[in-house]
Amino acid sequence: MQQKACCRGCGAYPLKSVLNLGPQPPSNAYKIEQFAKEIFYPLELVICPDCQLLQTGYDVPPETIFGSHYAYFSQNSHEWLEHTKDYCDMIYGRLALGSQSKVVEIGGNDGHLLVNLKDRVERAVNIEPSGSVAEASIARGVETRVEFFDKIDFKADLIIANNVMAHTPYLRAFVDSLARSLAANGTITIEFPHALEMIKGVQFDTIYHEHYSYLSLTALSRLFSRYDLHIYDVERLPTHGGSLRAYVGYNQRIQDIVSIITAEERRSSVHYDIFARRAAESRQAFLYWLDVGDGGRPGQLQAYGAAAKGNTFLNYCGVTQNEIPMVADTTLAKQGLYLPGSCIPIVSEQAVFDADPRWIMILPWNWSHEIVQRIRRTRPQQRFVVGVPTFQEITPVCAL
Ligand code: SAH
Ligand code: ZN
Repeated sequence: MQQKACCRGCGAYPLKSVLNLGPQPPSNAYKIEQFAKEIFYPLELVICPDCQLLQTGYDVPPETIFGSHYAYFSQNSHEWLEHTKDYCDMIYGRLALGSQSKVVEIGGNDGHLLVNLKDRVERAVNIEPSGSVAEASIARGVETRVEFFDKIDFKADLIIANNVMAHTPYLRAFVDSLARSLAANGTITIEFPHALEMIKGVQFDTIYHEHYSYLSLTALSRLFSRYDLHIYDVERLPTHGGSLRAYVGYNQRIQDIVSIITAEERRSSVHYDIFARRAAESRQAFLYWLDVGDGGRPGQLQAYGAAAKGNTFLNYCGVTQNEIPMVADTTLAKQGLYLPGSCIPIVSEQAVFDADPRWIMILPWNWSHEIVQRIRRTRPQQRFVVGVPTFQEITPVCAL
């Protein structure tokens, strides 16, 4: 497989390496057979010298990721459902939408968002290529087109693109389709994990093949400027480790916050080296703990949460079932499958508790608080580690 020659945002080259995470299978490619053959693709974060877009250096074909087996259902997070419901109420008022309005959501997944709007507007269409989640959207009564976003046959007053622009390798074509689909006075709202937060927070496990780009206002403004579209407002959100919601349109007055956050991004480039170094240090600390510390003793360590991001960390560290025999996950559909790359079996919570591990590694570290509280209810003495942003024990705080 060839390294990508030029930037997917602006075409500039050559791209500069930021962090190489080694060859890895796609993070969401959970396995039915433990040792079935897998395709490994290089996983490297690179940066464009011109528009500063952070992106993966190699592209996995999107058709192999987004299909009838796609496993991420937005509806599984209660917090996210609240977040999208609040957004719908807010945007309905802010844009003065009504029964004549046309709304399109791109990558609307299981329809969890549009269900809040569909009865209040004339059209509410979800464009969602993954059959698995699109089925749930249809079942909710949301008008759903099971396809990759290309163009639509009407002009939308509101286009919603939450956590989807990072998911396409064809960024310029995607923006072109957005511009062609938007009404003259319409707005596009885009939510995305802010690249600056990933860099500052050393969230290197956000990097996986499904995320082709790590977005910033700088890179997005450049993409939209070709069409005379502007980012006219931005909100900071706590979701996904620190996100932004950008508002894009033709004529609206541009708020000061846009230039404030863009300036923060300009100053962030100093962090890239530190980011890469700290990711490598986390891996080393974990491997050292396995070699000479407590975690290496057989049966002492199990994992919790078979999230996609966990696979980046495990495969970066080269971990297998030898080091972590099982990973617990409460999602029934995942139990009985195996993690890609590491081939660790996904089991019920109870199976991990029955093994009575001294240590549990929490892979979705962003949910640590919730998970620790949950496990402590039945296992008050349980100790926990995480690998990101750095390998460490969490509550109670003490040395390893
Ligand atoms: N918007 C939801 C889902 C995000 S996951 C949320 O914020 O929770 C990304 C979604 O985008 C997946 O459901 C995936 O199938 C979809 N997707 C990926 N590429 C796409 C494309 N080119 N056009 C439309 N949807 C896409
Ligand atoms: Zn670029």
